[in-house]
Amino acid sequence: MIPSILPTYNRAPLAFVKGEGSWLVAEDGTRYLDLGAGIAVNALGHAHPDLVAALTEQAGRVWHVSNVYQIPEQQRLADLLVEKTFADTVFFTNSGTETAELAIKMARKYWYEKGAPERIEILTFEGAFHGRSTGAIAAAGSEKMVKGYGPLMPGFRLLPWGDMAALKAAISERTAAVMVEPIQGEGGIRPIPDEDLKAIRALCDATGALLILDEVQCGVGRTGRLFAHEWAGITPDIMMVAKGIGGGFPLGAVLATEKAAAGMTAGTHGSTYGGNPLACAVGARVIEIVSDPAFLAEVGRKAGLLRQKLEGLVAAHPEVFDFVRGQGLMLGLKCKVAPADLVAAGYGQHVLTVAAADNTLRLLPPLTITDEEIAEAVRRLDAAATSLETAPAASPV
Ligand SMILES: *Cc1c(COP(=O)(O)O)cnc(C)c1O
Repeated sequence: MIPSILPTYNRAPLAFVKGEGSWLVAEDGTRYLDLGAGIAVNALGHAHPDLVAALTEQAGRVWHVSNVYQIPEQQRLADLLVEKTFADTVFFTNSGTETAELAIKMARKYWYEKGAPERIEILTFEGAFHGRSTGAIAAAGSEKMVKGYGPLMPGFRLLPWGDMAALKAAISERTAAVMVEPIQGEGGIRPIPDEDLKAIRALCDATGALLILDEVQCGVGRTGRLFAHEWAGITPDIMMVAKGIGGGFPLGAVLATEKAAAGMTAGTHGSTYGGNPLACAVGARVIEIVSDPAFLAEVGRKAGLLRQKLEGLVAAHPEVFDFVRGQGLMLGLKCKVAPADLVAAGYGQHVLTVAAADNTLRLLPPLTITDEEIAEAVRRLDAAATSLETAPAASPV
């Protein structure tokens, strides 16, 4: 019999009843150190007092009014994002996949309005993840996500990840946009080198193609800058943001330049809940806290500490781990064992991690994790790795 929850997830047999900072408390009272943060969502950890206050204050005033009216909380968050980024304008969504939908629509509309409606092709990269809508799976193209859902939306061309020669050959005066994650998340914490991101920007400039950056996972302070592309000293035309921006409340945003957004006039796009007062009250507090240069500097310092300890962990378990990659508090441990086995071994040590593609274990702790928690986290990962070395292999070889 089908479960009452549609069984599209392989869930761990764990349920949490409370969260505090970097910790989640299970039903039986056991405390788990959370290095997944709801997959880079709980950027400020669990139950951050400022976010609880922002949400409950707003909840006592007004929850929802509709985008047919002015929404002051939404205005405040949009103004903050425009002030702190490349963007001139913002559209709010409830999720990452909805930001992919709008980014695709905006890029096509841009060329339509410029009198080039045939310019629809969007170049994307293998290993990408842009969400689960029909548009987003067509963009990412992976067999696992698209199988059985055809016919797919046409107009996407998938290039080998990191292959700049392939991009140079594929991009042309007919390309509408290039859509890329500065650091692939689901794909296995694979960062694009700064030089390549600069080269992608230059190729877009040379052909007129718009650059869409998907910072749903790597944005909002995760790398030690407010947005990951800042490290390369470039700016996109359109940027997708979600996950961390709501700190756990569902919220996403598409940021764009005035030029890229030129076709998006009244009636061309919409969302009932997008930019809802509750979400925006929380989002504004998240951005205020995370965009503080002192906060971002701390993320960078703690990331250095975690990385150094992880290098030690890899050296201590050469049979389990291969190397560390990633940036800031978005780190991946390339494994020699199945990452799912390490995630399971972590449960035994009461530490939560997330598996990713390319045989990678993902660490995406709250940006507020403390030095002591980092040390404790690596001790627990060490114990998890040891348990795999001593136990018989969990999965068939
Ligand atoms: C999670 C994710 C998405 C999709 O976000 P949802 O909120 O799950 O729809 C899109 N892009 C990237 C890079 C992501 O990590």
